[in-house]
Amino acid sequence: MATFHRFHQLCSQLIEVSEKICVLRPVEETLTPEEKNGADDPIGDRAGSNHPVGARFAERRRSGTTDLEALEMALRTAMHHAGAVALIGLLKAGEPSANRRGVPCRCGRRARYVELRSKLVSTAVGQVRLTRPYYLCSHCHTGQFPADVEWDIDNTEFSPAVRRTQALVGQEPPSITVAGRCGYWLGWR
Ligand SMILES: [Zn+2]
Repeated sequence: MATFHRFHQLCSQLIEVSEKICVLRPVEETLTPEEKNGADDPIGDRAGSNHPVGARFAERRRSGTTDLEALEMALRTAMHHAGAVALIGLLKAGEPSANRRGVPCRCGRRARYVELRSKLVSTAVGQVRLTRPYYLCSHCHTGQFPADVEWDIDNTEFSPAVRRTQALVGQEPPSITVAGRCGYWLGWR
């Protein structure tokens, strides 16, 4: 009973934190118009603007029963949303400082900073729009995103964790067990 009480407390705290995060920085701000309008809106689904965890508790109060699957999926959605917001914040690359306005180009010259550009990346916590500096070499006209190389998302829209999952799914049992794959997707490891 004490454990359940503690769990309920933690869930309430999670809802509070989630609501504060939503007020401070709604994920909807990161959506493109297509994503806002699209039916297949992964960020919108995950954002849970109706606070799905709170809705589960409201339902439990009304009915007196607990739909565990709905509750655990709502909790996971809330955690993904919080994770996506944190990821966007942590990977937010602004305008480069004066000593980072130029980077080496593969032709031997230097590529100069042009502007900030964004792209949608599929991550373990859902799709997030990342913004980073774009550089262009005026000699060979090759563009580059040094941040993409640092984050290991150069020329791909899938994060390293998502690519690892894709590789696991592509492997045939028995090298990777069903339990192992489930555990990876659910983040047990
Ligand atoms: Zn060049």
